[in-house]
Amino acid sequence: REGHSLHEIIDGDEPLRPIIDFDLLVEALNAITPKLSSGQAKNLLCRAFRDTCLEIFPEWDKETMSIAESSDEKKISLHVLTFGMRLPNIAKVSAFTELVRKKLPAGLQKKGIIDNIANIGSFKSFSLRILGTPKYDKKTDKHVRIKKVIRPKDGSIFDFMIRPPNDDSRVIDSPLLVVPESEVNRCSKENNDTSSETTQADFDFVESLLGENGIEGYTLSFPSDNIPDLFPLTRNSPSHCPICDREHESDNGYILRNKKTYRFYCYCANHEREPGTRNPSVKLTISETALQREQKLPSPTKLDRSKISDPND
Ligand SMILES: [Zn+2]
Repeated sequence: REGHSLHEIIDGDEPLRPIIDFDLLVEALNAITPKLSSGQAKNLLCRAFRDTCLEIFPEWDKETMSIAESSDEKKISLHVLTFGMRLPNIAKVSAFTELVRKKLPAGLQKKGIIDNIANIGSFKSFSLRILGTPKYDKKTDKHVRIKKVIRPKDGSIFDFMIRPPNDDSRVIDSPLLVVPESEVNRCSKENNDTSSETTQADFDFVESLLGENGIEGYTLSFPSDNIPDLFPLTRNSPSHCPICDREHESDNGYILRNKKTYRFYCYCANHEREPGTRNPSVKLTISETALQREQKLPSPTKLDRSKISDPND
């Protein structure tokens, strides 16, 4: 059996703690000018986090900042969060992350160094490794980079979680936490436009796409209300992954719909991608038979439907 790491999985859109997930290869750090030591980079990050917390919540207690580290000689890896407040939803945490990022020197603002919770796998669930557990390296079959406490030294495991049980810390909103336009549109669309709902016919269509493209070993689910274009794929049997080009036993995936295109993503591949690159995906192509089936669907509410039938896209 494959080894594994223990993670806190974040999905759904209840209030949650602001979190910064910082990953920087030492090689990339050394290439930054003006030169920064790893200690300086960590300090700059923690200062930016602290300043952002104080900006949005002036009474914030800086003693509630928790830092965990799982660096090794090749990579600096930090998680910084606060158990002194929560933000209303993932979009606000995403805006918070951008405020922190903009306070860093240009070299540390590059893509892939600070993961934005909202961008990971395009609104997929975010997962955070639990304190004290190692990361499982599939290539070497070893458990590496145990996640350790930097502060608070006397904290509990819950001080390092994004959405621990029974968290009654204050939920803070601030005009500084500006949610990008696209996000606002997404939310208002969900609330007002019921035609964006996924119908059984849509679902069947996605299922047929999986079959047509030889993607097996998963159970397809309907998208959740807050991520209307993401179809979760839960593994039910081992299969060959076309992205990772090897067999998976336990990794899940998902399908992302973008108007008329559907792409397959693998969480395993997302986790293993090079910093600064996008999550790898496979475009699902539509065959003639699937197209014909699609065109026969009764679709009074789906204005986008005709776009799906363009095979040249
Ligand atoms: Zn994979």
